[in-house]
Amino acid sequence: MSEESDQSLVLYSTEKAESATAGNVAVISLNRPKAANAQSLALIYALDDALQRALSDSSVRCIVLRANGKNFSAGHDLADKSGIVGKTWKARSQWNNFASTGYANSKNKPIPPSLAGQNGEFLAEGMFNREREIYKDMAERWRNAPKPTICAVQGKCIAGGLMLCWPCDIIVAADNAEFSDPVVAMGVCGVEYFAHQLEMGSRRAKEMLFTGGTFSATEARDLYGFVNHVVPVNDLDSFVLKCAHRIAEKPMFALQMSKEAVNQAEDASGRKQAMDGAFSLHQLCHAYNMQRFGIIVDPSGIVPRGRKKSKHRSKM
Ligand code: ZN
Repeated sequence: MSEESDQSLVLYSTEKAESATAGNVAVISLNRPKAANAQSLALIYALDDALQRALSDSSVRCIVLRANGKNFSAGHDLADKSGIVGKTWKARSQWNNFASTGYANSKNKPIPPSLAGQNGEFLAEGMFNREREIYKDMAERWRNAPKPTICAVQGKCIAGGLMLCWPCDIIVAADNAEFSDPVVAMGVCGVEYFAHQLEMGSRRAKEMLFTGGTFSATEARDLYGFVNHVVPVNDLDSFVLKCAHRIAEKPMFALQMSKEAVNQAEDASGRKQAMDGAFSLHQLCHAYNMQRFGIIVDPSGIVPRGRKKSKHRSKM
């Protein structure tokens, strides 16, 4: 069985409750360390399955999302060949017409399946639905999951990696964690789950987007405010589990209502409308790139494998 179809791309385990009145903790681990946990479709759907499993288990009161290996996630896998949305996997979104997206451009140049349309053409409809199905809606499910979630981040957390940690309720970063969203260089206005402004405020969000800069765990905590704690990398799992067990001692319904109270406050401030609008602009960027370059991203922003991109720090 290839790695792409292997269910072990995402591991699931349960940490038993620490007292008779407490709940269990579900631990969901990205397990594609050799590829820096790049998010293939197989991994994304396995992750969605793991979330549903944790939510449907009434003994689980807190969910930990973590990653094996040096890096949390290098983002979406742009060379993904693990399958076709709507065929290999049944769509989980009601926006499920993917007919116009696929694999080759009008010049028959080979293009990674995640980047172009399959019938020699690109139509915005299929791309809109595809990215809603596999990116935006899944991140939204994590954000709205009616159980507390804690994300443990080590190493690199790039672009699509943000779409896994930002929807979680609490983020704990190892002291070697680095965060970035460099996709403006690829001709799009930030990742599909556009929580940048919510997570760090307007000016910091713009700086992150405009510079494509990389930010340390300490900067993410002290300047940007989207990391709760920074701990030594070797203490990351134990710190997060301790926090999860402490949460799992509390009554489930009160935890759910606490989460819902904060989430509703965000939504009352227009969170969802703002993110839906940003997603539409993201799709406009893909359509523009397709018109101009015959590919959904600006090819000048794609770094060939093996070549390191210059690092722009936040301090300019
Ligand atoms: Zn996109």
